[in-house]
Amino acid sequence: MLRKTVYFFILSLFLSLHAQQCATYDLHQHQMENNSQYQDGFLQSENLARQWRAEHPADDGERALLLTIPVVVHVLYKDAAQNISDAQIASQIDVLNRDYRALNITYLPPYFDSLKADIEIEFCLASVDPLGNPTNGITRTSTAGGQILGYFSPLGEDAKFDSLGGKNAWPTDEYLNLWVCDLFPGLLGYAQFPGGIANTDGVVLTTTSFGTVGNINTLTPGGRTAVHEIGHWLGLRHIWGDDNNCTGSDSIADTPNHTVSSQQDCNININTCANEDPFWGLFDPTDMVQNYMDYSNDTCMGMFSKGQKQRMHSFLYGDPNRNALFTSNKGCSYVGMENMEDVLFSIYPNPTLDVLNIKWNKNENARVRIINLSGEVLADYLQVEPGEGMDVSMLSPGIYFAEIYVSNKTVKTIKFIKI
Ligand SMILES: [Zn+2]
Repeated sequence: MLRKTVYFFILSLFLSLHAQQCATYDLHQHQMENNSQYQDGFLQSENLARQWRAEHPADDGERALLLTIPVVVHVLYKDAAQNISDAQIASQIDVLNRDYRALNITYLPPYFDSLKADIEIEFCLASVDPLGNPTNGITRTSTAGGQILGYFSPLGEDAKFDSLGGKNAWPTDEYLNLWVCDLFPGLLGYAQFPGGIANTDGVVLTTTSFGTVGNINTLTPGGRTAVHEIGHWLGLRHIWGDDNNCTGSDSIADTPNHTVSSQQDCNININTCANEDPFWGLFDPTDMVQNYMDYSNDTCMGMFSKGQKQRMHSFLYGDPNRNALFTSNKGCSYVGMENMEDVLFSIYPNPTLDVLNIKWNKNENARVRIINLSGEVLADYLQVEPGEGMDVSMLSPGIYFAEIYVSNKTVKTIKFIKI
């Protein structure tokens, strides 16, 4: 009998975690019921964020600080196709920067357009790894796969541990960890809400719903699964309130109530609830299927609301682990990586006493920034010719990085030693 009960428990958990394209909420529910450490951390984070909102009642989210979050992408692959290209990863970072800065162009009815928010968060691939070494912000792990039929899944969090065929997280108060792997069929991604367990903090995405180039699922051509999941990672709930009626809420006033999620389509005229938050007064808006926190097709998504921005900011400023990202010195290796493989670099002499020469195989000038181990920029040379020597005699003896931008797109970080 006991064995049968356990079996049904595992089966129902398995089904609930894999029945939807996003497993964030179901995983959260499971953790709240079974993991007291998760429960304590989650509730504490919610309280801190709520307190922050109470202390900033007039805050409409229009804050001055721009946060750039260092990202590490852990690629877990069973075959060559799953070992996605640098270009596919760069395309995802580009989408995040476009959508979180509200730089995308998507049709929105006027009553939603006025609510569209610039979240004032940017993302870049990390330039320094946890040991202080230069990195391109990508790890690649050949694996036999996850624990369920060779697929990764939220059950057991196998993507996030070396010992389970995945890759251990980099310190989650310094990096946003993104794992890209072959998730159980039908599941596109899942995230952990703020306040959860540190070594599982981050976002897991299935290989075919990551970025905009490469082998991409037709439901997710726009890289917006990651936009959605990072929304959860910053404290956002699904826009329909994870229930099947108009009473549940995402705790945000300016997002209309929905009965259920949109059906992976772009029905912009659907209106499943008439009783909206008081924010809307007598006006009954359509469902906000254009919101990233719905389940619409990527092609019609295009906004976070101002209320969602305030909620994300409340975790960013109120939760100590999210707030620590403001002081992370793990840097940015580059904004975009187009043609990175085409550009070869050499640096000499290394170690150097006074002059550093960097050569690259493109006939154009580069921008070179000299950065110390703390991430401070000590020199910024804007127009460096290939092979031109740069004076580094002013540096104290030690380890530094030269960060090189070509065409404002391609950049490489090279470690050098000053003697
Ligand atoms: Zn979700």
